Amino acid sequence: MKIGGLLRFSMSDYPGRPAAVVFTRGCDFRCPFCHNGSLLSARPAPDDPTAGEVLRFLRRRTEQLGGVVISGGEPCLQPDLAAFLGEVRAMGFPVKLDTNGHHPEVLADLIDRRLVDCIAMDIKAPLAKYPLLCGRPVDTGRIARSIALIAASGIDHLFRTTCVDALLDRADLAAIRALVPAGSRHLLQSFRAETAMDPALRRRQGRAVQAGMCH
Ligand code: SF4
Repeated sequence: MKIGGLLRFSMSDYPGRPAAVVFTRGCDFRCPFCHNGSLLSARPAPDDPTAGEVLRFLRRRTEQLGGVVISGGEPCLQPDLAAFLGEVRAMGFPVKLDTNGHHPEVLADLIDRRLVDCIAMDIKAPLAKYPLLCGRPVDTGRIARSIALIAASGIDHLFRTTCVDALLDRADLAAIRALVPAGSRHLLQSFRAETAMDPALRRRQGRAVQAGMCH
């Protein structure tokens, strides 16, 4: 596991649970609105915690924490993710996985092996606009497969969309809602312009907010 950070305590990342958040390194997307730019490179930084250090920390916090969130970056890129989650769950922690949904085969394996208790997947755009919102060419069939897989899993889950006014209009949000299966939750998240990876988007969003264009 390449881990780029550890948030030792959070009340806002795992619904209803005090949780630690483990941030994995590396992502296959380059979303212009990303606010975790320092995690996108898979190259380790000198102060990155090791997987062993994170697991030792979690073992000491089994009484205080009610869950562990695996976020990123994109956790599904880690070849030893299942083994890591197995160790976390063996400590008794429920696990929430944050994912961009581009790796349905990894999700299927984690679901089959009952290694996750909650999944939060981003639906970043209508499928036709995915490359714009992800900053990369995207196989949107993989996104659609992940949505269907998660919705049918029986596991607690939610889909999330960051409302980037400069890139998504009301028709886009309606098209995104149409991708969310009946019975699944869909959360709209505020865009944090000040931490966006793309400086041009920071400037454009600033003008949009001033013009009162937020949804
Ligand atoms: S998928 Fe998430 S971590 Fe990766 S670039 Fe997009 S917002 Fe950032």
